[in-house]
Amino acid sequence: MEQFVNLSYIAASILFVFGIKMLGNAATARKGNLLSSVGMGLAVLVTLVDSDLSYALIIGALAAGSIIGFIAAKRVQMTGMPELVALFNGFGGLASLLVGAAEYQREHAAINGNLLGKVAEAAGIESVDTFTAAVIVLAILIGGITFTGSMYAWGKLSGKLGGRALTFPGQKAFNALLALGIITTGVIFAIDPTGSLAYPMLIAVIVLSLLLGIFAVMPIGGGDMPVVISLLNSCSGLAACAAGFVIQNNVLIVAGCLVGASGLILTVIMCKAMNRTLVNVLFSGFGATAQASGAASTGELKPISVDDAYYILEAAKNVIFIPGYGMAVAQAQHAVKELGSILEENGCEVRFAIHPVAGRMPGHMNVLLAEADVPYEQLVEMDDVNPTIEMVDVAIVIGANDVVNPAAADDPSSPIYGMPIIQAHKAKTAFCLKRGKGAGFSGLENALFTAPNSRMIYGDAKATVTGLVAQFKDA
Ligand code: NDP
Repeated sequence: MEQFVNLSYIAASILFVFGIKMLGNAATARKGNLLSSVGMGLAVLVTLVDSDLSYALIIGALAAGSIIGFIAAKRVQMTGMPELVALFNGFGGLASLLVGAAEYQREHAAINGNLLGKVAEAAGIESVDTFTAAVIVLAILIGGITFTGSMYAWGKLSGKLGGRALTFPGQKAFNALLALGIITTGVIFAIDPTGSLAYPMLIAVIVLSLLLGIFAVMPIGGGDMPVVISLLNSCSGLAACAAGFVIQNNVLIVAGCLVGASGLILTVIMCKAMNRTLVNVLFSGFGATAQASGAASTGELKPISVDDAYYILEAAKNVIFIPGYGMAVAQAQHAVKELGSILEENGCEVRFAIHPVAGRMPGHMNVLLAEADVPYEQLVEMDDVNPTIEMVDVAIVIGANDVVNPAAADDPSSPIYGMPIIQAHKAKTAFCLKRGKGAGFSGLENALFTAPNSRMIYGDAKATVTGLVAQFKDA
């Protein structure tokens, strides 16, 4: 039986690895998702038949979790997806924390010989060794930080806690003290997990980890949330991996490692996209000063009507769309795809330039454009479009702001200085579609809107693009 279980776990792990590999390409992503799901289904089934479990409890928990998950996934708007991801990460962390704490409770009870202890004894548990105690600490520590950190990130992303970084004097020292407290109490617990000090130490680890999650995310500004979410995702994987060691489940260890590693790779990619180091993102307090610094834009905004924009587009031979968060808010992706097709029929070369942190989650724009069936070949990356952007007749900026802010390239006083951007200000003409004078996510003014080549088209992005489509159809 044990061999069968382990072979099934290896098969599930292989399915995970190939599934993740296939997610790297839009053409194979669906299949990759399916493959990974089959792997997970197999792992769950084998785990259920392998162990001597309380099926009534498991079925109850599965039913409750499935109902809540189904309703949440059905209800969530595309714009709320990052918040949902933050919640999922958080609950993953909480699950690992609970597994660690419950396992200790079970083993501790075995030592003390009470009723629960007799059940545990029957299951062959004798005592908690230092290795088990150490992985219990890790599962609780990483799980706790992931839980409260993710809840705080959710609060920031949903606007309930404000998007700005919150700093106070001595914050770094305070966080270092919390970390030191966790290490000290964790080590004392792991050295003597059956001693009289063990329980209070474990409770201290839980409380301090939960606090550290909050205080670690607090000084990070909204503009850096993509990196934080990705890092917390990686942490939820590591917490699951530690939980796998606690309950000695091989497939949980492998799956946790995969989530941990892939989350970390994504985190590094995101940092590169912002031209920042991870240390800078986590500790610089970026966003606390964002509104205060950076040169104010002095030029004039030049609005243009949809009718006039149509005449310019009608004559264009090379157009790029630069989508941002506003396209997600307006749900304009289908209208944008229709406008792209009409422009192509009109003899124009059409591309979609995607910034790695456009929107509110990694791949946000790719998902929306894929939903609207925009051909994958038309999507171009920032590094491919920038070198030739001077040749572009019209850059249509659809609800993007920070990712096209020239201050990132030419204003050393700007907090986002150094972040790579799509250089719409260098195109022959830039149409900027937005509703009003609202700032981008980082709260900074944007010199693109007052650049000589810019024309503002005010209004909801979907209404504006639909208006342009109607002009082409009526012509
Ligand atoms: P921004 O958030 O910088 O700007 C969005 C723009 O869309 C605003 O200027 C807003 O202006 C406009 N807008 C909003 N609703 C509409 C609408 N219905 N129709 C037309 N325009 C609209 O978006 P970007 O995509 O440029 O930048 C992403 C930012 O978010 C970056 O700072 C990034 O770091 C951060 N971020 C990214 C995450 C990710 O993983 N991608 C996750 C979390 C944060 P107005 O109000 O005037 O309409």
